[in-house]
Order: sequence, then structure tokens, then C-alpha cells
Amino acid sequence: MMQTPAILDQLAAIVGPSGLVTGDELRSRPAAWTRPSEPCAALALVRPRDTEETARVVKACAEAGVSIVPRGGATGLVDGILCENDQITLSTERMTGIAPVDPLSMTVVAGSGATVEAVQNAARAAGLFFPLDLGARGSATVGGTISTNAGGLRVLRYGMMREMVLGLEAVLADGTILSSMRPLIKNNTGLDLKQLFLGTEGTLGIVTQAVLRLRPEPAGYVTALVACPGVDDGARLLRAAQSAFQGRVSSFEGLWPDFYRLMTKPGRATPPLGPDYPFYAIIEVECVPEETDRFVDLLDRLMGEGTVLDAALASSEEQRQAMWRIRDRVENMNADGIERAFDVSVPLDRMDGYVRDALARMAAIPGCRAVVYGHIGDNNLHWNTTDLDAAGNEAIDAAIYAPLAELNGSVSAEHGIGLMKRSKLKLSRSPEEIATMRLVKRALDPDNRLNPGKVF
Ligand SMILES: Cc1cc2nc3c(=O)[nH]c(=O)nc-3n(C[C@H](O)[C@H](O)[C@H](O)COP(=O)(O)OP(=O)(O)OC[C@H]3O[C@@H](n4cnc5c(N)ncnc54)[C@H](O)[C@@H]3O)c2cc1C
Repeated sequence: MMQTPAILDQLAAIVGPSGLVTGDELRSRPAAWTRPSEPCAALALVRPRDTEETARVVKACAEAGVSIVPRGGATGLVDGILCENDQITLSTERMTGIAPVDPLSMTVVAGSGATVEAVQNAARAAGLFFPLDLGARGSATVGGTISTNAGGLRVLRYGMMREMVLGLEAVLADGTILSSMRPLIKNNTGLDLKQLFLGTEGTLGIVTQAVLRLRPEPAGYVTALVACPGVDDGARLLRAAQSAFQGRVSSFEGLWPDFYRLMTKPGRATPPLGPDYPFYAIIEVECVPEETDRFVDLLDRLMGEGTVLDAALASSEEQRQAMWRIRDRVENMNADGIERAFDVSVPLDRMDGYVRDALARMAAIPGCRAVVYGHIGDNNLHWNTTDLDAAGNEAIDAAIYAPLAELNGSVSAEHGIGLMKRSKLKLSRSPEEIATMRLVKRALDPDNRLNPGKVF
């Protein structure tokens, strides 16, 4: 039986009165980035200052039979932080500390509430580089990106968040503190327990801090917008550049023509290339300026072979940023009423057929408009479509999701499952895989108190 007032008093005693947010102050916070006008529905938002306080909060909630929804920067795109009004939401916003960078082991310890941008800045100030990067960098947190195993713009070269976490600390559903804060790249000593919290969306524990792996700062970049006859040619360009630059291609973003035209409408980004090519890609290679000629030679050779139709090179940091704005300004799609966002994975060699087929199916849905783009170098496509009525949206979902199982694709490349994609999980995971996930959940959280109802 839930004892509402008692649990709130207990939580206030643990985190101090300013650590508990209720009433109008709580309702003034949005439910999620995707629901800006919907108020946060929780019973209260609790803001512990460290791991110890988090453990005491979790224990108190467990004893009172109250469930907890962890909340980071609230930029997740699958409704993973949505709450019921009898749940506590636990925000990491007071756990933002970043310890001094260790330049020899190339690591930094960051609180789970530190933003990605703050970690990037701390690394840069020490002459190092934190490679995770995504449009939400100013708000998305270390804990949130661990819990969703975020991907972003440099997965090709550095991998997803999983590859950047050497150690972490988490609080389990009964309040146990599980600390694996070791700054080690190699540590084959039984189960790698930190993996339990990477990509599991707050269902197995609350991450409170992490040891993050840093890299040497890239000496420079060559960035180009390239037009190709099709996706398969884009893939050939990617593979040629990866070979020529020994894996130093850090980004390869595919832009289909409707997306390119939308993002380069007058008043938005200036189009470096004409609007009528069949396929565009932004390619970025980490290299010293002297290597630019070698990159241009590669493009020339591919142009001679017909793999590349046209290309524009960024000749200054300003031009590089302008090129990236063509890819990044997702708010332009909202302004054009193409607000429903999808994130899927498809093997690169099947991508062209998949996109053609899905576009053809959506063209037959009255009122539907769709654009497609994405981190195609890592199989990841993003769709944005119009938001129609229930029947229309169901038809759009079918066009995008239904072919994925046969293609060995995934219904979620990098955003996770949350609440939004729960019904789609079975398209990407076998019954045995889902049963094993449930087994792990039951073992670690038998009373289903941590982010209940999400993922499974
Ligand atoms: C403009 C924009 C661009 C984006 N681009 C990308 C992209 O390129 N790649 C990508 O992968 N994602 C992208 N995202 C999605 C989003 O930024 C990521 O999912 C990010 O990892 C969420 O971090 P957050 O701190 O906002 O987490 P939240 O949204 O607060 O939470 C996300 C999930 O993690 C759980 N959680 C949060 N903190 C903790 C914790 N400390 N312990 C346990 N569980 C926790 C929550 O319960 C929830 O289930 C983008 C989002 C936006 C708005």
C-alpha cells in the first residue's frame, strides 16, 4: 500500500527540502523533449546529490512500494522518462561534477547528470577529445547516454557510448551500490557488470557516475558534401575513403533529395550543391591539412568512375559548421509539419531497396509526406513523416517497420525502446531473446520498481 505523504517526508529528509520538487514547480517541467506542453506527471521529482543519497532514495522508495523513473536531460525520443502520477522521478541534475581529466590514462570521471557538452569541454581543456556527439549535446547527460547507449555522429570511428565507458557506479533496485569505477581498458574478470546498465534505459539500475575514455584530439578535418547516383555509390565512396584514410572517416551521413531540399530552403542552410541529385552524403575524415589533396584526388578518381557526381569541400571551420547545419537542424522538419521521427537500422547493402519500397508505400497513404536521412555508415536511417490520424500513422508505421525483420534490421538503431516502441520489440528480437531480457530484469528488480513498463 503506497503511503504518499510519508514517502515524500522521507525523501525530503534524505535530499533536503530543495532536493524535492512537487506541485506547480514540478508541473511546470515538461514530461519530455517530445512533449513540451505536457507537464511532468510524477508524484514528486527527487534530486539526490550523490550515489549515497541516490541509494537512500531508492531504498526508501522500495520499502514504501513506490516505483522510480530515472530522468537525465529529458532529450530521449522514445518516451523513456514518462511517469505515472504515483511514481517518483529521480533526476540526476545535481550530480553534474566532472573530476580533473587524467591525461596519462586518458580518462575522466563524470557525474551522471553532467552534460555531453560539459564532458567534451573538459576533455578539450585538457588537450583531449570525448568523441560522443549528438544534436542534444547541451542537455543530454552522461547517465542518459549510458542508459540509451547513445550513438550520434562519430560512431563509425569511435563506436557508441558503450565503447566510451570504462567503469561506472549504479544503484540497484534494492538500494545496493554497485561500483565498478575502474579506469581499465582490459578487465576480463568474469561478467562485465557495467554492461547491465548500458542501453537498458534505467530498468536495471540508476547510474550515478562513470569513468569515461578519452581520445587524442583530431589534428583537423576534411569535410565534404558529395552527390552520388545512389546509396550504393555512397557506400562505395565510404569504403574507398575508409581504406584510403585507414579508418579515420569519423562521419558519413546520407541525405536523400527531399531531406536536402527541405534543409536548404531559402532562409535555412545555403545549398553547396544543386538540389536535383539522387543522393547526397556528408563525409568527414580526421586528417592534417596536408592530406586534403589526397582526399580531393580520391574524389576525382571516384568522379571519373561515375561513383561521385559532384562535391563541395568545406574550406574553413565556418563552412564546415554550415555544412553540418544541413544535417543537424531537425527543427526545420517540425516547421514543415514532418514531425514524426523514426530511427531504424538496415544493412547497408539492402538500404537502397528498403528506402525505395518504403517511400513507394508511403506515397500511397493520403496526406503522408516523408523524408529520410541518417548515419548510414553505421546502418542507421532516420525517417521523419507527417503526423496523420491513427489509421494513417499505422500505415506509415507498417511501411517503415514491417520490412525490417526480413532484412535483419532493427526497429531502434540508437534511441532505444522506451514506451513508444515496446510493441515493436518483437520485430527485432526473438521470443528467446525477450524472455532472457525479462529473466535478467526479474533477477535484478523482482518487484518491478525501476522504470516499470519501459522496454519490455
Ligand atoms: C535534437 C536531438 C538530437 C538527438 N540526436 C541523437 C543522436 O544522434 N544519437 C542518439 O543516440 N540519440 C540522439 N538523441 C536522443 C537523446 O539525446 C539520447 O537518447 C540521449 O542519450 C538521452 O539522454 P538524456 O540525458 O536526455 O536522457 P533522458 O531522456 O532523460 O532519459 C533517457 C532514458 O535513460 C534513462 N536514464 C536517464 N538517466 C539515467 C540514469 N542516470 N540512470 C539510469 N537510467 C537513466 C531514462 O529513464 C530514460 O529511459 C537526440 C535527441 C534530440 C532531442
